Amino acid sequence: MSCKPRRLVILGATGSIGGSTLAVARLHPERYQIWALTARRQVEKLAALCREFRPCYAALADAEDAAELAAKLRASQIKTEVLYGADAFCQLAAASEADTVMAAIVGAAGLAPALAAARAGKRLLLANKEALVMAGGLFMRAVRDNKTTLLPIDSEHNAIFQSLPRDFAPLGDAKAWARSGVRQLWLTASGGPFLRFSARELENVTPEAAISHPNWSMGAKISVDSASLMNKGLEVIEAHWLFAAPPDCLRVAVHPQSIVHSLVEYQDGSFLAQLGAPDMRVPIAHALAYPERFSSGARTLDLFARTRLDFMPPDTERFPCLRLAYDALKTGGSAPATLNAANEIAVDAFLRRRLSFPGIAHLVEEVLAAMPAVSADTLESVEEADRAARETAHSLLSCSAVL
Ligand code: NAD
Ligand code: MG
Repeated sequence: MSCKPRRLVILGATGSIGGSTLAVARLHPERYQIWALTARRQVEKLAALCREFRPCYAALADAEDAAELAAKLRASQIKTEVLYGADAFCQLAAASEADTVMAAIVGAAGLAPALAAARAGKRLLLANKEALVMAGGLFMRAVRDNKTTLLPIDSEHNAIFQSLPRDFAPLGDAKAWARSGVRQLWLTASGGPFLRFSARELENVTPEAAISHPNWSMGAKISVDSASLMNKGLEVIEAHWLFAAPPDCLRVAVHPQSIVHSLVEYQDGSFLAQLGAPDMRVPIAHALAYPERFSSGARTLDLFARTRLDFMPPDTERFPCLRLAYDALKTGGSAPATLNAANEIAVDAFLRRRLSFPGIAHLVEEVLAAMPAVSADTLESVEEADRAARETAHSLLSCSAVL
């Protein structure tokens, strides 16, 4: 194992993935120095993390929160410098002093800092799937042009990464896909808490029920996405960009036990899979230590405690978000960014009880229908598609056409 500790930036340090990353880093203090931590507005939580890890920098979204954090740290005689604003997240992600970046901001807000890290050639641990959904082509070009080491954190993509040939490189390259001998990729989905609900039962589900995932403990947005299968749809798009897999070679299998985290099917009929307890510390530890291995702190999988592993096809009638995501991927251009933005607004409205659960898919579908896809090969054009889709989603919500 190398001796020099890596300097780690954690974007979204107060979230579920941020917390799991810090939990793994805590086990290996000789390997990681926490160099910068960011959050949107959880001042108290970020202050506690700064007291524990003493990073050089901390950043929040707003000036007021940053001033409050700075005052708290001064009172505790902690020398962490406090920054604020979206530019500060990008600066920290690209700073020459740091070598490893965990991109774990949720939603579209994570795109610009993750892209800044990719452009700066960092060792980039990518949890923020929305960055690839919105701007996959642009993002993977930045990864290739800057020789960025990109390591997928999403458990399915991490499982696929582990099950692909070791020489599958560079990521996102059609030639790497063509010579790999892979027939198709199978992404597993737990099916979420409403897997067996009828269409009528889905009309009345609550935000509380949607965010209590049966197997994984995650942030609110991704928990709702898991319940609607939009998460799997976003992951299909994510896998397309990461592995240059054509849409028809990306398959989804509902696997309620969440033990097989995904599979690679080879042309000779072999299936290779990664298995483990459903705990994000496993893929995080894999990516932190890569290409070595070290402990994650997760409980090990007890093979004898499991009697069965079930797999079934997804039902896109009851869960249309998955179909919408495949359609957006095939349409291309700005369609995936539109899908993502509409979904963020829809999930937020659902969590605020302004939209029913089936209303999420309806709103996304309406926004996609209202906004023809245009080319989206610059950050500006992607951000414009995102902005326009949010505006359309808000106006459809306010006229209650999709509730
Ligand atoms: P979370 O809601 O628990 O945490 C999100 C973090 O991002 C917080 O630190 C928050 O302060 C920060 N943040 C939110 N909005 C922000 C903004 N506008 N500007 C700056 N910072 C902002 O989310 P999570 O569950 O940890 O998910 C993070 C990302 O990882 C998501 O893209 C999600 O899809 C992906 N992911 C999560 C899991 C999981 O198990 N939680 C698994 C796979 C992938
Ligand atoms: Mg996942």
